[in-house]
Amino acid sequence: MDFIDLAAQQQRIRNLLEENVLKVMDHGQYIMGPEVKALEDNLAGFTGVKHAISCSSGTDALLMALMAYGVGPGDAIFTSPFTFIATAEVVALLGATPVFVDIDPRTYNIDPEKLEAAISAVKQNNPQLYPLPANKHAQPLTPRGIIPVDLFGLPADYDRIKAIAKEHDLFVVEDAAQAFGAEYHGKKAGSLADIACTSFFPAKPLGGYGDGGMCFTDGDALADFMISVRIHGKGSDKYDNIRVGINGRLDTFQAAVLLAKFSLFPEEVTLRQQVAERYSSLLAGNGSIVVPYIPQGFLSVWAQYSLLARNGSQRSAIQGALQKEGIPTAIYYPKPLHVQTAFAALDYRPGDFPVSADCAERIFSLPMHPYLKEGDQKKIADVINRI
Ligand SMILES: *Cc1c(COP(=O)(O)O)cnc(C)c1O
Repeated sequence: MDFIDLAAQQQRIRNLLEENVLKVMDHGQYIMGPEVKALEDNLAGFTGVKHAISCSSGTDALLMALMAYGVGPGDAIFTSPFTFIATAEVVALLGATPVFVDIDPRTYNIDPEKLEAAISAVKQNNPQLYPLPANKHAQPLTPRGIIPVDLFGLPADYDRIKAIAKEHDLFVVEDAAQAFGAEYHGKKAGSLADIACTSFFPAKPLGGYGDGGMCFTDGDALADFMISVRIHGKGSDKYDNIRVGINGRLDTFQAAVLLAKFSLFPEEVTLRQQVAERYSSLLAGNGSIVVPYIPQGFLSVWAQYSLLARNGSQRSAIQGALQKEGIPTAIYYPKPLHVQTAFAALDYRPGDFPVSADCAERIFSLPMHPYLKEGDQKKIADVINRI
């Protein structure tokens, strides 16, 4: 059994994939070819956002978004410690300081109440109010922005987050790397903040056959900035450089692959719901594990189907029993960001974010993709329910 079965998907669109890739080889525009613009137009339409700017990865999408806000040393950017390293890595890469905010234990997304506490703590420079990172600058940190993560494909609570952002004059960048296709009160992930960033890493809900990413925004000036920064800070001409940028283009080949995959995507979002619902009903009678919680008005795209075991040893027992049956599982994330060596300079303590620490010890994810068969799911649930 595969954790994510990309072969089943490929089989359905193999001809279209080959056609699209061969077209690129025929026209030869490997850099910024017509497929790149076509993909941007398609995904802008899908999310209902004015500008879609493709780029080389989800990480570069986040980097470009923060660069558009001129994020730099002395800035505080609030985000979750229970996410992939890239979310906070780009903050540190620009010399700014990630300020971690613990998660809601039910959704695993940033907790708006704790977000308010963390912003107050930074503003008053008072770690008694909320755990703060070490600040090596002469001045107190300046709150600048929030990066909520739509973890496992479930959007964060943007109404509450945006109200807090407005009150404190902060920008919001949606990390929708795992959430393309998800919805929040009728709006698509990718349209839920000032800028949204997604990833086309092969394992994401809309994945390519390599790296890729995209930024979404309704802001004309933000879009212009990101379009420029994506190609070495270009001005009106590529040899007129008006700012320092990056080489952040999406390959034409990846755009061609993604266009083929996008033709199946809306149907796959529906199939993912069915797979997730089946898991949850098969596991409903199991009193010792916690199935995913989807609040009213939210639609997850189920990048992961994650369960909470009672404790670390029960998790190991379940993973071991599944492995014996040839069923792969994964742990997202075994180590929250505040205890990662890369962020040692922030000087956080392991106990600073107890919900994240607790989830890291108990969470695990089951095989999840649109083509998972009911029989396989029953087998998985049987193994789990026997423990
Ligand atoms: C995958 C991921 C990223 C980074 O995307 P890449 O395309 O791998 O660079 C960023 N944030 C989150 C939450 C992710 O899951």
